[in-house]
Amino acid sequence: MGAVDVETPPPSSSSSSVSLPSGPDGRKRRVAYFYEPSIGDYYYGQGHPMKPHRIRMAHNLIIHYNLHHLLEIYTPFPASPIDIQKFHSDDYINFLSSVSPESIQDHNLNRNMKRFNVGEDCPVFHGLFQFCQSSAGGSIGSAAILNRNDADIAINWAGGLHHAKKCEASGFCYVNDIVLGILELLKVHQRVLYVDIDVHHGDGVEEAFFTTNRVMTVSFHKFGDYFPGTGHLKDVGSGSGKNYSLNVPLENGIDDESFRGLFQPIIQKVMELYKPEVVVLQCGADSLSGDRLGCFNLSVKGHADCLRFLRSFNVPLMVLGGGGYTIRNVARCWCYETAVAVGVEPDNKLPYNEYYEYYGPDYNLHIPPSHMENQNSPRDLEKMR
Ligand SMILES: [Zn+2]
Repeated sequence: MGAVDVETPPPSSSSSSVSLPSGPDGRKRRVAYFYEPSIGDYYYGQGHPMKPHRIRMAHNLIIHYNLHHLLEIYTPFPASPIDIQKFHSDDYINFLSSVSPESIQDHNLNRNMKRFNVGEDCPVFHGLFQFCQSSAGGSIGSAAILNRNDADIAINWAGGLHHAKKCEASGFCYVNDIVLGILELLKVHQRVLYVDIDVHHGDGVEEAFFTTNRVMTVSFHKFGDYFPGTGHLKDVGSGSGKNYSLNVPLENGIDDESFRGLFQPIIQKVMELYKPEVVVLQCGADSLSGDRLGCFNLSVKGHADCLRFLRSFNVPLMVLGGGGYTIRNVARCWCYETAVAVGVEPDNKLPYNEYYEYYGPDYNLHIPPSHMENQNSPRDLEKMR
């Protein structure tokens, strides 16, 4: 895994800066950060809400906040088909690696598109398989670095594609980088905890590890008439995996305070009882307030508090992206969470950056909460706890 510094430092004229943290979590962490410079060029197609460009926007903010000096930056090795087939079926990966926008008229490919659920939510776009290879390469690389104890935290914002299944694409996800990353972690670690704060249920990861106690999955998500439809409170795993899948189904409009009131006691208990050797956090940003597809009301700070809390346990941590469809807020969130990982507090005023116009009219890092109703009553939340 070659360390490649992919960016030169910006000029020091930037008015925005970061300040060193205080408090018990201020201890420095070694943070590895995976970024493929071409990731922002992939394009799902006109009108499609999933925009890899948001990862480039987050990266650009990270650079202009000067956070890159506090990171070890890596360019991921593309995951090979053989790497990817550690989870996915050969048929599916043969198809994914050979399909192209030009070839989809072919009759046989067309039949396979239905079979593998490719075409609608999961379109065929230029460079699709390379995109999957970069995303998965970043998560497998993150796992390898944590396995070698070369970092305390490894970040891959191009990862977190939690809906992909063994033999099919789902919910804008084709290759499940998370499952592949966890399989790599299992080479060295006995118990892996997976935590998912995307607004959607982490179904692909849960399904992959439903029958094992070596991976515990905990997903907080909107439940009820909402994609993908799974993640009921009563789904707890099976066989030796029984009680090692945990689902926290939520209603629309959950705010920072309500979310924290569930997240912290649940995760505290899971950490005490399960004692994971490593934790994987999927930071899907569609749980933020004002998301184009989401229905929660979290602020960037409230979202990042989940990372801050897990970081405080001093267990090796893999931090991944996921959903997030109001891209200016996704970039804000993942930049701020990168700062939380390294333990600094960035200025609220955004530094000038290549995508500055996206952040108007306020040009702040943090976003004001909306006035939407929180449909999670205190009683429901107490019952859930
Ligand atoms: Zn999502």
